[in-house]
Amino acid sequence: MYADVLVEYGVKSLDRSFTYLIPEHLNSKLKKGMKVVVPFGNQVINGFVINIKDKTETENLKEIISITSGEFVLNDELLELGKYLKEVSMCSLITAYNTMFPSSMKVKNIKSNYNLYDIYLELVNKEAALKYIETSKRAIKRNELLTRLLNKEIIMQKEYSSAVVKPLLEEKLIYLRKETKYRINQNVSNISKPKLSLDQEKAVSAVKLNQASTYLIHGITGSGKTEVYMSLIEKVIASGKTAIMLVPEISLTTQIVNRFYSRFGSSVAIFHSALSAGERHDEYKKIFLGEVKIVVGTRSAVFVPLQNIGIIVIDEEHSTNYKQENNPRYHALDIAKKRSLSHNAPLVLGSATPSLESYARSQKEVYKLITLDKRIGDATLPKITIIDMASEYKKRNMIISDALDKAIKEKLKKKEQIMLFLNRRGFTRIVTCKNCGYTFKCPHCEITLTYHKTSDNLKCHYCGYTVLNEEKCPTCKEHSLTSYGLGTEKLEAEIKEKYLDARVIRMDADTTTKKGSHEKIITMIENEEVDIVLGTQMISKGLDFPKVTLVGVINADDSLNIPDFRSGEYTFSLLSQVSGRAGRSTIPGEVIIQTFNPDDKTLNFVKQNDYLNLYNYEMNIRRLLKYPPYFYLTSIKITSKDYKEASTDATNVLNYLKRNLDNNVIILGPTTAAMFKINNIYRFQIILKYKDFNYLKDALKNLDEVYSTNKKVSLEIDINPARI
Ligand code: ADP
Ligand code: ZN
Repeated sequence: MYADVLVEYGVKSLDRSFTYLIPEHLNSKLKKGMKVVVPFGNQVINGFVINIKDKTETENLKEIISITSGEFVLNDELLELGKYLKEVSMCSLITAYNTMFPSSMKVKNIKSNYNLYDIYLELVNKEAALKYIETSKRAIKRNELLTRLLNKEIIMQKEYSSAVVKPLLEEKLIYLRKETKYRINQNVSNISKPKLSLDQEKAVSAVKLNQASTYLIHGITGSGKTEVYMSLIEKVIASGKTAIMLVPEISLTTQIVNRFYSRFGSSVAIFHSALSAGERHDEYKKIFLGEVKIVVGTRSAVFVPLQNIGIIVIDEEHSTNYKQENNPRYHALDIAKKRSLSHNAPLVLGSATPSLESYARSQKEVYKLITLDKRIGDATLPKITIIDMASEYKKRNMIISDALDKAIKEKLKKKEQIMLFLNRRGFTRIVTCKNCGYTFKCPHCEITLTYHKTSDNLKCHYCGYTVLNEEKCPTCKEHSLTSYGLGTEKLEAEIKEKYLDARVIRMDADTTTKKGSHEKIITMIENEEVDIVLGTQMISKGLDFPKVTLVGVINADDSLNIPDFRSGEYTFSLLSQVSGRAGRSTIPGEVIIQTFNPDDKTLNFVKQNDYLNLYNYEMNIRRLLKYPPYFYLTSIKITSKDYKEASTDATNVLNYLKRNLDNNVIILGPTTAAMFKINNIYRFQIILKYKDFNYLKDALKNLDEVYSTNKKVSLEIDINPARI
């Protein structure tokens, strides 16, 4: 028997298949849709089986070495989906297929009983392993194990018998690594199912099951969207089908998962990045075998091998996290739409602040719009006040305005909780020299370094470059360094000093790096062990704490000033989300937004909670400037370690596009990208605006192919980028 195998080779994978001989011992096991390793030239590389046949004309065939996808195999639906993924993201087919396997996905089932840690096999040294493979040709299993490790696969000890593992350990070719397992907080009270409100009932019955339509639920924060999703999913499960529920990020899953868990028990699996590889594997297996019915997860969960899907829900559909920023650059929404069609199942999008694109589609009746405009029960939307920081500065209130101070004190007294939002982590943002003007910048990224007090060092937030803090200016040697700009770490110090009795906790990327730390913080807030929670956007979304009655936005200008045509939309959504954390229960909430632009239109739409006017205002700008949703965008990045090469090629690409595209496509650039130098790589950008992708498809394919073999300059094509 023979197999046609796509191979992963070169800078980008070659998108063609080669025929291999299937060795005797794999004959009964190998199937279309499996991952394998194969010899290629004088290398051993990854491959993917796309066809099995009993005849071939090709001679001198090499044999497939082994299967690396274990018991997993992509079914016909997923094989088709891979082709679609390739189309919409311009990745290679093998990249598309690899994306769907658990090694590139994140999974967890909250019901299982875990050991304290997992044991993994790790390579001691590459050369020794290669040598072993060459000299001991008959140790098939051991060679397979080493080959997989050489391929950077994650392998658990329990996957191989000790007869295989032990000799390799003794010969010091591999070693064992223990990794503590992730545990989700399981103190879930069994919340009984609430009786749906009339509006919720209407929303549920508006969604027609067994029909591939897309719905947009525009529901203000706290209007009971999650309850609507759960009712729909319950109906779907009752009819014997399955459901996918996507959430934008890990920090959100804990609360939502707990709600799903108490409602649906062990039929729920969750997917996210904080899982060990072993858990990922085990959970994928349960989904693969049809042992779970509901998958709650982040972006990549859209590829899970659930069969008989009856509904797909995308919560917080406006979130940019649904777009993957590296290869394959797909949007979960596109994939979900495709699966909704294949399964004849509804796709339900939900948000308090829908993306302009989605809302525009609902206006054109491409999506069916469902509106929930009241909070559940007696809860009302919080009162929002905008504070002009310019006049506060005159009173020397640099961080906390009088109004916010007064409100904080009042809430502390009443034992209610407070959230303070600041979208900058670290202590201070910029350290410069007062004498000579020197500023600490990352040598690899051209980005100013942020001072972190806890570790007393300066960090680059893009590449992680870190240097120790200095006392003297490195250029003029004077003791004249000063710092300004506010980060969460400094805010924390300020707050602790100002409100001595308050119990303060900070939630940002620096305090949540350890496994389970998110959950720990959330539990502490739930148990009312903290009074003030401060943090970055991590605290902005989805979380539902009834005791939070005050939200303070320390500096709204950070977000207004980002150089992106969507900054207004993003600011509106971010601040509405943050504001939505206040007063979700019976006690009314209050929001205070501090800014230097008190007259800004977007902020005033936030204040009025006026999505519709924001939409109309932004749409007008988008129409005039030919931005989405009126035009589609594609961004092309030309990057290289060598400035000159990047710059020359950027011009070459531009000329190529000018020659090959007609005036249906507007070409902008090349300009230096928003983050021009990252990790020592220079980045140029060309933006294309168009109404129909077919105008540029062929030209982009050609460019992509030309650059796939270029070792000095790379080309990244991002269709519908989330940011430009
Ligand atoms: P959203 O997802 O729109 O922000 P949620 O579904 O989280 O809203 O609902 C907000 C709060 O109201 C939650 O605490 C939820 O448990 C509660 N809730 C939702 N629907 C009902 C209902 N029909 N009856 C009582 N409480 C409800
Ligand atoms: Zn850097």
